[in-house]
Amino acid sequence: MLRGKMKAIVKHHRGYGAQLQVVDIPDIRDDEVLIRVKMTSICGTDIHIFTWDEWSQGRVSPPYVFGHEFAGEVIEIGARVSNVSVGDYVSAETHIVCGTCRQCLTGQFHICKKTDIIGVDKQGCFADYIALPAKNLWKNPSNMPLDIATIQEPMGNAVHSVLAGEVLGKTVAIIGCGPIGLMAIAVAKAAGADKVIALDINDYRLQLAKRWVLRTSFIQLNRIQWKSRKASQVRRGWMLFVK
Ligand SMILES: [Zn+2]
Ligand SMILES: [Zn+2]
Repeated sequence: MLRGKMKAIVKHHRGYGAQLQVVDIPDIRDDEVLIRVKMTSICGTDIHIFTWDEWSQGRVSPPYVFGHEFAGEVIEIGARVSNVSVGDYVSAETHIVCGTCRQCLTGQFHICKKTDIIGVDKQGCFADYIALPAKNLWKNPSNMPLDIATIQEPMGNAVHSVLAGEVLGKTVAIIGCGPIGLMAIAVAKAAGADKVIALDINDYRLQLAKRWVLRTSFIQLNRIQWKSRKASQVRRGWMLFVK
């Protein structure tokens, strides 16, 4: 078993910021694997934790390692692990569910009441190594670039948000062109949306969206429209909103 120390970004106190620290390499249980983290991405959740906003004050318990989006290599597996092997190139589903509650037993894992989120409720991936339950891992194709592999978690949000509604042949409004909103535009188009209308108050983000999404209408809202949720009144005839 790999022992020793590693570098990690630690949410070290109940306040603004984080620290680069040297901490113990985590041990693994029989159903877990140890992964060498090769790339991570920064989620909005990590910004909340770093800036110590109201949500994070009520949710996380420093000191701990945060971060949950990553790609890496399995370097050690627990005695009961059979779905992944040493050397596998993996990313992770970030919700660690209980597997025994009514929601889990009926396949509704996303609403398990006992969910632990990586980097929120337990040690995260802003470190050289992370220990995780093997059942949470996704094997990546060997030719998938690291920077794509690490953002599959927000991509999953975009896919599930858009596909929660009927998209085929419809006009879809995407409110907010942050990373997930941008992905949602692409997902909506791939899923056969007739037209996509993308809204944001941030011109930089709208410009980003314009660079790579065709046949989409872009509307820049002002702060008052945004806050008062007047977006729905900008155009009539929209069929589905994703926010
Ligand atoms: Zn995330
Ligand atoms: Zn559960």
